[in-house]
Amino acid sequence: MSEIDAILNKEVLSREEIIDLLLTGPEDRNKLYARAAEIKTQYVGNVVYFRGLIEFSNICEKDCFYCGIRKSNKKSQRYNLTDDEILDAARFAWESNYGSVVLQGGELESPAFTSRIERLVRGIKALSEDKLGITLSVGEQAPDVYKRWFDAGAHRYLLRIESSNRELYYRIHPQDKTHGFERRLQALYDLREAGFQLGTGVMIGLPFQTTADLADDLLFMKELDIDMCGMGPYIEHADTPLWQFREQLLPLEERFNLALKMIAILRIMMKNINIASATALQAIDPIGREKALKIGANIIMPNITPGAYRNDYKLYENKPCTDEEAADCKNCLEARIHMSGNKIGYDEWGDSLHFKVKDKPA
Ligand code: SAM
Ligand code: SF4
Repeated sequence: MSEIDAILNKEVLSREEIIDLLLTGPEDRNKLYARAAEIKTQYVGNVVYFRGLIEFSNICEKDCFYCGIRKSNKKSQRYNLTDDEILDAARFAWESNYGSVVLQGGELESPAFTSRIERLVRGIKALSEDKLGITLSVGEQAPDVYKRWFDAGAHRYLLRIESSNRELYYRIHPQDKTHGFERRLQALYDLREAGFQLGTGVMIGLPFQTTADLADDLLFMKELDIDMCGMGPYIEHADTPLWQFREQLLPLEERFNLALKMIAILRIMMKNINIASATALQAIDPIGREKALKIGANIIMPNITPGAYRNDYKLYENKPCTDEEAADCKNCLEARIHMSGNKIGYDEWGDSLHFKVKDKPA
């Protein structure tokens, strides 16, 4: 048995073994993908669940060095969908038999914002006879805010740690009170405490990031015992501070391959969690998301933001599908998912099996 075969058959992977897997060349890489695909089929099945993504606002109080909608980017055209526009998008998801929606936006902390999200969660539940699942992704908030949103009916939350290496975290964020690493970490614990299915993730191919950092990110997710993961390649944006380091980045194709390897390794390490196929994969490879679905991912987030606003939620260069409407996405995705050998779990929440198992009393 080759060294790679031996690693791929282990129950628990060490840091060194994860690094070896991240460094695999084309031949061994295919063995990694095949093993991850096998585990996916066995543990979560070849079903892909939809989360209609509503990017409801690009107004943000934070200044993350990588993000195109950071507060200090004066070139960003700011927008904030009305409640009616958000509810219409959710209605589209409901009528299209998507099982769930994701409300994602810039990070704001205020009583008005808290009440607004609470109202929207209740509104989405009401329009869908309580049936649409709701994931939130609106950053760090106080524990009681998370609790209110959970009580209103949201049940999953995605908060990427971005990098689990504290030092690297502060190279990609300002080192101030608004961007504290410990606060982000604490928010993850608070989310779990509030009752949410917990999702986190990282960006892959950041400047200054090493292979060992990525291995540590995977071990961090395992240790935190997450229920869901959303991770994808970092893609530079011209109007952000990290743009100055673009010469140091891995070529896009390598960042893409590294992202696929991260997904495959995580599937092997955490067999029954939900793993999203990130939109950023498609910014590099037109069939990037389908490739991820083949080798371990089981969640896709079709963009259902009204077309007029999409170009303004520009986190990075070449963001795909900014010139389409939600209905175009649906038709295009169906065909692509079938091509990737998966079925679509229409009308289902497709909750994390990992969460369900944990939830059962022993
Ligand atoms: N504001 C919330 C937050 O930060 O958690 C949610 C919205 S934020 C735009 C969603 C994710 O976009 C972030 O967690 C980050 O990983 C990702 N992102 C931002 N800029 C990016 C870039 N240049 N390349 C790839 N992903 C990026
Ligand atoms: Fe704001 Fe999120 Fe972008 Fe950071 S990543 S600037 S919190 S939208």
